[in-house]
Amino acid sequence: MVEIKPLSDYLDGLLPALGVNKKRELLRLLYEVVKRDGVAPQTVLPVEKNLNFERAKKILLQKRYPHSFGKAPKSAFYLPKLELDPAQRADLTPHAFSPKNIYIEPAVADSPLARRARERFPAAQFHAWDGQEMVGSPSFSRRNETLVIHREKYDFLKPCPCSAGNAGCGYNLVNLGFGCRFDCEYCFLQQYQNLHAVLLPANVQDFLDKIDGAAFRRGPFDRPRIGSGEFTDSLAFDELTQYSRALVPFFRARPQLQFEFKTKSTCIEGLLAEAGAENVVVSWSVNAPQFIERVEHFTPPLAQRLAAAAQVAQAGYRLGFHFDPVVPFDGWKAAYTQAAEQMAQSVPADQVAWISVGLLRFSRELKKAVENRFPDNFILDGEFLLDFDGKMRYPEDLRQEVYSHMVPLLRRLFPRAVVYVCMEKPHLCSCAL
Ligand code: SF4
Repeated sequence: MVEIKPLSDYLDGLLPALGVNKKRELLRLLYEVVKRDGVAPQTVLPVEKNLNFERAKKILLQKRYPHSFGKAPKSAFYLPKLELDPAQRADLTPHAFSPKNIYIEPAVADSPLARRARERFPAAQFHAWDGQEMVGSPSFSRRNETLVIHREKYDFLKPCPCSAGNAGCGYNLVNLGFGCRFDCEYCFLQQYQNLHAVLLPANVQDFLDKIDGAAFRRGPFDRPRIGSGEFTDSLAFDELTQYSRALVPFFRARPQLQFEFKTKSTCIEGLLAEAGAENVVVSWSVNAPQFIERVEHFTPPLAQRLAAAAQVAQAGYRLGFHFDPVVPFDGWKAAYTQAAEQMAQSVPADQVAWISVGLLRFSRELKKAVENRFPDNFILDGEFLLDFDGKMRYPEDLRQEVYSHMVPLLRRLFPRAVVYVCMEKPHLCSCAL
């Protein structure tokens, strides 16, 4: 982990009269280059006669953004104050999901989900939850210590909130759960989840009751798609929730719709216990194996995800894959090509319904959360620029290069699948088509 104090002291020695804001910008840039390149600050910003703020900032911007400097507007370089808090560092010690405190709303105290929680976690402290008092662990990293089983009253069904200006794919969401037991370094929940707990609704039937008669968007697909993986992994808690046992028969009886489980897990017992259904798509988020190992903590490796996919395909489900987030690290083309070929060798290609491709993008707020929780991350080392929708994205030409490689590759390997680009400007989607 790069220490800030020596960098700050170095800048003070180099430019002693800097104001607070100017120092903040230079320190941010210096930190990011030192962290990315693993070099001393003296190498990045050497002593120079007549060095002033403007010159120092230009040198640092050129080194931090070698591809974009001179092309992107200055406002695209996001230089927030550097505030690293070691207390927020993620705990990467392997641990099972075993909450210490379980809060149950009285309205669902006798539900099958509450009953299973009592059986499965007998050592936990159980509390009645009135839905008013906020419960949760003191930090995001300890969120899995608290489980809340509740009756959802309002948030049942909604269109996927694609950013304005992006080419939407017409997705629809049911929010069956909030929180995740995995710890992917790029996960938006780190910045989004303010209640540090896992929330699971016990009234899955109320969600299903909203489906019939609802108006759905369809996007470029033959039928509307509905999925449950926005604020959680769709299957990571399925042994406990058994949502799959309710969802699969419900959607099997409604062939005009498609339901998608989105997961990185291998929790497929519930799916295998049901007969498969052509309109139930089980999708795995996939990535290059070395990326999974370094960035997607506690998740199964690619080979295990693909083995689970092969099993559910054999049981009669269709499959989906999401190459998301693609990170163009050194050697990305070969690594992602190999991962796609491994997919094609592992699962029946004609049972793959769709594959999406999306590059890493994130909100400004998430940047600080990631660098605090994972100070040795490499995912923030890329050249991220503030984009049209306020998100941080790679430069457009790099995104285009990735899509132009990935989309034709996946279309060749999976000719019957819909291959599409996720959360992207319309002209970049069409360039990949
Ligand atoms: S699996 Fe999804 S929800 Fe879970 S930590 Fe990773 S990105 Fe977040």
